[in-house]
Amino acid sequence: MNTNTQPMSRRRSVAVLGATGAVGQSFIRRLADHPWFELTELAASERSAGKPYADAATWIGSDDMPQSVRDMLVQPCDPARISADIVFSALDSSAAADAEPAFARAGKVVLTNAKNYRMEPDVPLVIAEVNPSHLKVLEAQRKNRGWTGGIIANGNCASIVAALPLAPIHERFGITKLIVVTMQAVSGAGYPGVPSLDILGNVIPLIRDEEPKIETEIQKFLGSHDGTTITSASFPVSAHANRVPVEHGHTVCMSMELATKADAGEIERAIAEWRGASEAQGLPSSPERAIVVADKPDQPQPRRQVDTGNGMTIVVGRVRRDPVFDVKLVAMGHNVVRGAAGASVLNAELMKRCGYLGEP
Ligand code: NAP
Repeated sequence: MNTNTQPMSRRRSVAVLGATGAVGQSFIRRLADHPWFELTELAASERSAGKPYADAATWIGSDDMPQSVRDMLVQPCDPARISADIVFSALDSSAAADAEPAFARAGKVVLTNAKNYRMEPDVPLVIAEVNPSHLKVLEAQRKNRGWTGGIIANGNCASIVAALPLAPIHERFGITKLIVVTMQAVSGAGYPGVPSLDILGNVIPLIRDEEPKIETEIQKFLGSHDGTTITSASFPVSAHANRVPVEHGHTVCMSMELATKADAGEIERAIAEWRGASEAQGLPSSPERAIVVADKPDQPQPRRQVDTGNGMTIVVGRVRRDPVFDVKLVAMGHNVVRGAAGASVLNAELMKRCGYLGEP
């Protein structure tokens, strides 16, 4: 985290819904000493509500649970019980369906990781460096739905890892067809997640409902908007999603056809030179580089590079000619950080900088 700070006393209060799960814990790490936001409330299911956080959550990391949350009482996911007006959601989709609109109706800005509202045309699905202007549809969302708050979505963890390196390629050369094959880490399934006897020494070629999410969310990230509605990019995407025995870090192999032909060197340069939207530069959670090109031919590798840029940088490698389409490459990123909590916190910082969070 850089030192782009405001006085600590002016930090905005924020809450985390689904605070006990894998993504909720990642939010807690990223918000524990955030210069702009102060984590004041935690919520989860009725199973956890009323307990001190340290009793409700099984802390997954090898780091220590931050002292500041240990004794915090977990609240139920009821907007009447949460006073913060910025709410990060790491809720299971079964709970997010009703809870997130209830919070938005109650005037809360909800930055969600759940799948439920991502593809609604008036819900911004944002990667800060890729499509910050999609936040403009928030006003239409409020008008359409009669909400004073709103929902801003994060993509699926594999979609974000794929879409970041596709952004500079689509900008410069125009993607006309895309095939995506993922190798997704077990932490992508939450906690306790996939049974160890199913995944150790194994590859599972099905992640339920994942492929349509990857196919449609990439199109939406790279789409356009008219100020009220987002229109997805029209190139077809075909995805294969696989679960592999890796702890953190989704690896994504992609082959693409281009409108303007380019060789592997030009694609690699386009990725290496890209800095993303200027609004997303220099925020507390911005990595120095959102994408880097690996300097070794056998990379990216999740074990060695998943924490690049504090988990916020996508590592790309193996950019080469594709004999069927035009170009192929491999991308890898931290699913729980860049693919979830880190991306949501970065979106909140972007919203604050761009005036979407108002004054406290
Ligand atoms: P998880 O470990 O299973 O955590 C789920 C959280 O939801 C827990 O805090 C749980 O609270 C809470 N919850 C479940 N049912 C609830 C209910 N009925 N009411 C209120 N709270 C309820 O899942 P996760 O991996 O953190 O994922 C969280 C969300 O982010 C999901 O929508 C997932 O699809 C999405 N996502 C995950 C990743 C990833 O890499 N893991 C990446 C991107 C997006 P209790 O502990 O009290 O049950």
